[in-house]
Amino acid sequence: MFETLSERLGGILDKLTRRGALTEADVGEAMREVRRALLEADVALDVVRSFTDRVRSRAVGADVVRSVTPGQMVVKIVHDELVEMLGAEAQPIDLNAPAPVPIMMVGLQGSGKTTTTAKIARRLKERDKKKVLMASLDVRRPAAQEQLRILGQQNGVDTLPIVAGESPTEIAKRALQAARLGGFDVVILDTAGRIHLDEPLMVEMAEVKRIAAPHEILLVADALTGQDAVTLARAFDERVGITGIVLTRMDGDGRGGAALSMRAVTGKPIKLVGTGEKADALEDFHPGRIANRILG
Ligand code: GDP
Repeated sequence: MFETLSERLGGILDKLTRRGALTEADVGEAMREVRRALLEADVALDVVRSFTDRVRSRAVGADVVRSVTPGQMVVKIVHDELVEMLGAEAQPIDLNAPAPVPIMMVGLQGSGKTTTTAKIARRLKERDKKKVLMASLDVRRPAAQEQLRILGQQNGVDTLPIVAGESPTEIAKRALQAARLGGFDVVILDTAGRIHLDEPLMVEMAEVKRIAAPHEILLVADALTGQDAVTLARAFDERVGITGIVLTRMDGDGRGGAALSMRAVTGKPIKLVGTGEKADALEDFHPGRIANRILG
């Protein structure tokens, strides 16, 4: 087992026997460790730079109080800065709009988009007592619409009846109308994914957005894809405009650096995390947990 970042920082800083304010020289070596750990955790380089600058400026000149070691103090500064950068406030899905509130799910194929759509619908139904309609706009993969229908059935959530031959925007229009007529509170549009980001996908997303005027556009991204998830978030935010991120596969052994980078690059909150394949494996985002994961 390699040492965790917390242990490494302790190892470097607790050699200081002198008490009082930390100097630039004291924290220099520690910042190199922070930098290394963040890069290992898949945090983007420019994010690492601005992060270490912030930690350094808080740590240099800080007085080490008697009750903690210099290492503990710097670990706490790193932790607090991580939490701040990740967005300290919990950000739930915003349903503050006239019903039916449209939510659009976007992301690459295999990211967990359809599973997450069903998880969110189930949670809104069970916890918030909302009447939810789900619709799959994926006309490229015939099994996609059927997959959502089955998930709806398993979780007691309505899905829009499948009509062959419709375009994604036609399905979106029909879903909105059905949600209005049926008295639904929320309508979730599960858009098509692709293996890679491409121009036709972006054009399709922009079209669906124009038709549906979604109140939330949630990017579903796989936490294990690291830097690719960051590129993805940037592209979707620039082209379509997202309102939040759902990070899936947080039950895996990803170090959580993608979360920090995605947040820093887009400025958009991570709203939820997926923690497994089951329909109830969806949790609110807790920045402290990601910070602890990075610190080890
Ligand atoms: P889509 O192509 O983006 O719609 O992806 P799917 O929803 O079909 O999910 C692809 C696979 O990832 C499925 O086997 C899901 O069960 C699985 N999956 C989705 N979210 C999670 C998660 O948070 N953790 C784990 N371990 N698996 C997940």
